[in-house]
Amino acid sequence: MSIDFIEQLSEQLHSREEKNLFRRRLVLESPQHTHVSIGGREHLAFCSNDYLGLADHPQLVSAACEGARKYGVGSGASHLISGHSSAHHALEEALARFTGLPRALLFSTGYMANVGAVTALLGHGDAIFCDKLNHASLNDAALLSRAKFSRYSHCPHLDLAALERRLAESHARRKLVLTDAVFSMDGDIAPVPGLLELCEKYDAWLMLDDAHGFGVLGPQGRGTLAHFNIRSPRIIYMATLGKAAGVFGAFVAAQPEIIETLIQHARSYIYTTAAPPLLSHTLLKSLELIEEEEWRREKLAQLTAALKRELQPLRWRLLLSATPIQPLVIGENDRAVEVSEALRDRGILVPAIRPPTVPQGAARLRISLSASHTMEDLGRLGEALKEVDRNR
Ligand code: PMP
Repeated sequence: MSIDFIEQLSEQLHSREEKNLFRRRLVLESPQHTHVSIGGREHLAFCSNDYLGLADHPQLVSAACEGARKYGVGSGASHLISGHSSAHHALEEALARFTGLPRALLFSTGYMANVGAVTALLGHGDAIFCDKLNHASLNDAALLSRAKFSRYSHCPHLDLAALERRLAESHARRKLVLTDAVFSMDGDIAPVPGLLELCEKYDAWLMLDDAHGFGVLGPQGRGTLAHFNIRSPRIIYMATLGKAAGVFGAFVAAQPEIIETLIQHARSYIYTTAAPPLLSHTLLKSLELIEEEEWRREKLAQLTAALKRELQPLRWRLLLSATPIQPLVIGENDRAVEVSEALRDRGILVPAIRPPTVPQGAARLRISLSASHTMEDLGRLGEALKEVDRNR
């Protein structure tokens, strides 16, 4: 590698730093929870996706230990060689039952599930229609697929008319509408019934990324499809298992022919080591908790309402969101970083989210709630934000 190349990289990094876009990792010394230890100091955290508070649940920790004793720690091979264990298989069957879809397939991560599914199902000559605020993994999936990729606008809010025009104009062999079911940085829910109606009218498929709805929305936490009470053979459903489910991984659920095609063609499924079976063993327990412990979703609803009341006096506005993702829009990058740092000085962690993750001028604090938060935790956040707002 030439020295020039290193100098170029160093300049790029420096320029990122100057624009307040440089990202740094926190080093957690404790399990993921509402109170975490960083640098020997306890912090109140509003930044995980552990919405139901399951990431350090004692029953899941026991299930993980039991899974390790039963299956060992590594799967040792890819699914298509000899890495597919009875724990993976049982979890796939449980996920299909839980979501009410015909068949489910596990992937190691949501990123891999999106990339694997979209590239296996579409290619040159096909067309993909994405919401402008979709998660990066869906955009990457669309680009990698070589299908024609167009993005419809999220503002004015979720522009179904723009999508309809594009679907009507398209003469592609296969059409796929690709969308976050719950938008990860805004917390709003996609208008799935309207999207499905358009897909039916224009013979398109609908792929939903329910990373932030699974476990949180719908009766028993069955996700966004259950929230809208929708079923359709046109739907390809993806959800992740490292957020509300508290563990790790992801799955795609759909018609059997789709799932079989993914097993045969999804490269991020085929050419990778299967996740440790102990995770699937743990996730079977997690699914039981998601299904049985409705109080966790009720608590989230109470916390969400209380947060809105608590932050009402601020000059900054919370976006309209009925999910545990509650974005407080600050505007400029520098200001969002300053507010996040001022909170951090007070022992409170709320990440500043900046472009390109969110649009220019819409830098924000992404407050994410967990069923393990208490009303006192919200009070502390509210007081700290009011103090920072007064001091600016
Ligand atoms: N989709 C969405 C909407 C996400 O927010 C994320 C993770 N932030 C992913 C996919 C990727 O999932 P994973 O973290 O399991 O790779």
